[in-house]
Order: sequence, then C-alpha cells, then structure tokens
Amino acid sequence: MRDYYEVLGVSKNASDDEIKKAYRSLAKKYHPDMNPGDKEAEEKFKEVNQAYAVLSDAEKKARYDQFGPEAAEGNYGGGYGGGGGFGGGFGFDFGDIFGDIFGGGGGFGGGSSRRNGPQRGDDVAQRVTISFEEAAFGCKKDVRYTKVEKCSECNGSGCADGSSPKTCSKCNGSGQVRVQQRTPLGVFQTTRTCDACGGTGKTIENPCKKCRGTGMSSVSKTIEVSIPAGINDGQSLNIRGMGHAGKNGGPAGDLYITVSVRKHPIFVREDFDIYCEIPITFPEAALGAEIKVPTLEGDTTYEIPEGTQTGTTFTLRGKGIPYVNGRGRGDLIFKVVVEVPKNMTDAQKDALRKFADACGKSNYAKKEKFKKSFFGRDKN
Ligand SMILES: [Zn+2]
Ligand SMILES: [Zn+2]
Repeated sequence: MRDYYEVLGVSKNASDDEIKKAYRSLAKKYHPDMNPGDKEAEEKFKEVNQAYAVLSDAEKKARYDQFGPEAAEGNYGGGYGGGGGFGGGFGFDFGDIFGDIFGGGGGFGGGSSRRNGPQRGDDVAQRVTISFEEAAFGCKKDVRYTKVEKCSECNGSGCADGSSPKTCSKCNGSGQVRVQQRTPLGVFQTTRTCDACGGTGKTIENPCKKCRGTGMSSVSKTIEVSIPAGINDGQSLNIRGMGHAGKNGGPAGDLYITVSVRKHPIFVREDFDIYCEIPITFPEAALGAEIKVPTLEGDTTYEIPEGTQTGTTFTLRGKGIPYVNGRGRGDLIFKVVVEVPKNMTDAQKDALRKFADACGKSNYAKKEKFKKSFFGRDKN
C-alpha cells in the first residue's frame, strides 16, 4: 500500500487545508465520471479517497502517523483504546464526497456519528393546562409524563441475570462494517452500520426480559413544576435533564412543558394588562355611581363620575398580571357599557317620557354638535 501522503502528493507536515485542496483536485482528476471505463483512474480514485478518509480525520491521521495504515483502518487489536475500540474504516457518504467535488460546498462532515459513542437523550414535550389566575400569580403543578430511562432490572446493560454484553463478532465492536458498493461510477468501499449489533458494537446473548435487551424502559414520571407568575398561554418551560435518558453515558434530554391557560369568564388578557366590560344602568351613567369592579383578587369599588358615556374606559393601575421576569404588574382596564332598559312597564315608560320632555339641548351636547355639523345647512 502506498503512503497516504504520497498518494495525495503532500508533505507529512501538510496542513488540513493543503490536504483537502490536494484531495479535491485529485478526486476531480480521477473521478469515474471524468474517466469513463478507465480502470486505472478508478483505482487511483479509490486510493485517493482512502488516503483522504484517513488524513482528513484527526484521530485516524494520528494513528496512521504513529502506527501505520493498519492502525488507521481500525484493525489494531481490540484492546487499543479500551472498550469500544476504534470506530472503523473509511466511513463516508458518497453524497458528501460528490457534493463536495461538484460544487455542493460544505466540508466533509467529519464522518458519520458513531452509534456506540455517548448520545444525548431526546427531549420530551408535555402540555399542562392551568387557570387564568394560576397563570397570573404562578402555581405549582404536578406534571405527569412518560420518559425512557435506564432499565431498572438490568441497570441498563440489557442483559439478564448479571451477564454482560459481548463484543460483536461481525464488526469487532466498531459498530460499522465495510462493504463493497457497486455504483454506476464503479465499485467503492464504504462503511455501514453493522446489522448484527445495530451499530452498538455489542451483542447480548441473554437479553433482559423487562427491556428485551435495549437497556431502556419507559416509565411514567410525575414532577412538581413551579410555574412562574405572569406566564402566558403557549409559553414553555424548559426543565433540563428531565427528558429521555441518554445512551452510552450521554446526558439526558430536556423536558419542555408548554402551558395552556384556560379562558377567564370575564377577563381578556393582552400581554400583562387585563380587560373587561362592565354593564351599568342609564341612571348610574347619568348620575354617577359607585360600581363594583371585579379584579383578580376579588371585587373592588370604583366611583364613576356623573355623565359617564357608554364605552368609557377606566384603568386600575397595577391590577393586571405580574410581569413574568421582574417587578410590577400590568393594569386592569374596564369599559363601562350602558345597558338600555327592556321590558318596561307603562308606568316606567311614562316616567321616562316625562324625563325626556324635561330634557333640553344643554343635556345632549354631542347630539347638538352632530346636528349642527351634519344637518345645519338644511335646517335653520
Ligand atoms: Zn433491562
Ligand atoms: Zn456489530
């Protein structure tokens, strides 16, 4: 086997960039598309790819420099590096290489992620529904959810009766196997996830009955979550490390709790302000009155002035929703709406007619102004 540096035509001290440049120009030169039917070019193309697969991978390059090609290929004995051994061989995607050569841009993605290395667990999403008031003032909620955890029966080993997993004989623990791939461009050597062990590098002869050898089991969990005052509908809380367990010593995922806030019968929320409508009677509006105003903390009274028009809004400062990250609160804004009386008796109607007769222009400034601006020219 030729020296990889020689194959790429670079010195032993070549930088990553120089190696990459050399590879790209050679891969283009010998690419089967450019040299149809040329066996020699095909061989060269393979050789160049092999050399680059090693020299572009810092770990493999270091092994190659120290121990030669056998070590770089991952055949350097199981004991090396302990446990898993080297993830092996020349692993790359055709998509990667061809994308890179033919203008796809992007680098060589550092190889496929190794399935037998530590993996972070997945996140879990859960929804919790709370009342309008709970959202306003914060609350504690028990949230129930299901997550994957280390199997309690086998403590994650996947093996029954205290046995332990064996190194996979098909891939020698690397989790990957080399395969010849025939393509219209020629025959290439690629790496695939080992089908015997699913990429874990280990096989289990006597699987744990509870988890069927996966080492993981689904468990139902309940945790008490503190929901902060001021949270709004659709917002989420992220609870770190409470998601699915990681694999091979990887960290657990997170738990995302999305909050649904139930509608309030009276209040509508906008950011940190709350709004409501309060019906009042015509005499209350005309004479002024002390009216009852609902707040999140119970009723309060408010003095509306004489001559209040329907649709007038009043603001109770600081009676809205507490700011979720800080001090202070939004406002409560209420709108008074005059309710016109219905189902009046004859006596009531008489009284109202008498009242109407007693009213004059000075009682209805708006109406007079309207009349003047709109009908003024036609009528005197
Ligand atoms: Zn188990
Ligand atoms: Zn295997």
